[in-house]
Amino acid sequence: MPSRGAPPRSAAVPPQGTEPRGPRPERQSGPSRADGGAPVVERYIRDVPDFPKPGILFKDITPLLQSPAGLRESIEQLAALVDPATFDLVCGIESRGFIFASALAAQLGKGFIPVRKPGKLPWKTASESYELEYGKDTIEIHIDAVKEGQGVLMVDDLLATGGTMDAALRLVRRIGGRPVACAFAIELTFLHGRKRLGDVPVHSLVKY
Ligand code: AMP
Repeated sequence: MPSRGAPPRSAAVPPQGTEPRGPRPERQSGPSRADGGAPVVERYIRDVPDFPKPGILFKDITPLLQSPAGLRESIEQLAALVDPATFDLVCGIESRGFIFASALAAQLGKGFIPVRKPGKLPWKTASESYELEYGKDTIEIHIDAVKEGQGVLMVDDLLATGGTMDAALRLVRRIGGRPVACAFAIELTFLHGRKRLGDVPVHSLVKY
């Protein structure tokens, strides 16, 4: 698996309590909807080199979540990228995916379903494993998280190699769900993760 790091760049994180100035982006519809708003969100993403291990440039979303404008814009922009008529549930991947998925579900009047790490879900689960750079990881979902044929919007904070989301798509399909699209706050395009997600439409707010 390729390294998840990106060439170092300076992320301008506004000081605590300040908000980006200027007009708020319009809420639009269509595939390039987030274009006008993404820079607002991008301002709040902090690059942390060599975390959690050397060579990885970690995209830290905590400044984005900490900012009332950043949080609001990111949820509104994600909501504008998807067609709520096509799904009933928003599926979030543990743990940062939960933040965006649950806020998005509430914003759009949908339910939220979690995909979690092994051993965390209390009811009967289905599980899927996927390859990491060294070793394997596993994720789980409750077998009754969806009704047969229900449309599901898949959400995570960041798309890197696509291994995590690919496994989540397999999980949701295995229990009878119909993934209609994947949405991410951040996409590391140089890792070509979207290729791994087949023909499911992929939306992201900020691309590196
Ligand atoms: P992947 O399966 O390679 O697409 O990795 C996606 C998952 O790993 C997401 O849940 C991200 O939260 C996390 N992740 C991968 N790379 C990074 C990164 N550079 N910065 C922050 N999170 C990352």
